[in-house]
Amino acid sequence: MNESIELQDKTFVRYISAAELGIIVSQLADEINAYYSKFQLEIILVSILDGSFIFMADLVRKLTFPHKIHFVKLQSYDDMESTGQVKVLLDLDVDVSGKHVLIVEDIVDTGLTLESFKGMLTNSDPLSVKLCTLLSKPEVHNDIVDLDFVGKEIPPEFIIGYGLDLNGVARNLPDIYKLKI
Ligand code: 5GP
Repeated sequence: MNESIELQDKTFVRYISAAELGIIVSQLADEINAYYSKFQLEIILVSILDGSFIFMADLVRKLTFPHKIHFVKLQSYDDMESTGQVKVLLDLDVDVSGKHVLIVEDIVDTGLTLESFKGMLTNSDPLSVKLCTLLSKPEVHNDIVDLDFVGKEIPPEFIIGYGLDLNGVARNLPDIYKLKI
């Protein structure tokens, strides 16, 4: 297991190990199971691509309530920064009116992606919309977005691995690495 890696002329150091990620995902799944266990209706899970695909795959295998899985592809980041705009690259293919929805995100930085997607969903009259994220950078979003299930809070670092990319690469790394400044 590498302590540091070089990618696109940048150095990244190991930050959250695969073992710790496993524990974080299990704890999140326990919380989410406890919350939804008494719901009568099937829950609609919406994973935000691309970054959340690995987290989503690990999370759903630990969920114990009836649910359906859907994906949307949103883009707000260019290189290592938020552009301030959210583009819908692949839209949701399910009607969420009268349904309970849980949005699953990899990381919340400015909160713009989740805020604007929650706004789009709310227009379709769901019964409820809850937000789950593996990682959150509270110093950046200052709680402008109301997160219901958070795996771990981190400082405003740029990170890669476990689904998170650097210009399209490094999503496959089992551990999470942070940019060495
Ligand atoms: P937000 O809209 O909250 O500013 O950004 C959310 C999206 O930006 C995430 O879904 C993720 O794709 C990307 N993002 C935010 N922070 C990071 C980071 O530290 N590393 C990487 N690779 N992507 C990030």
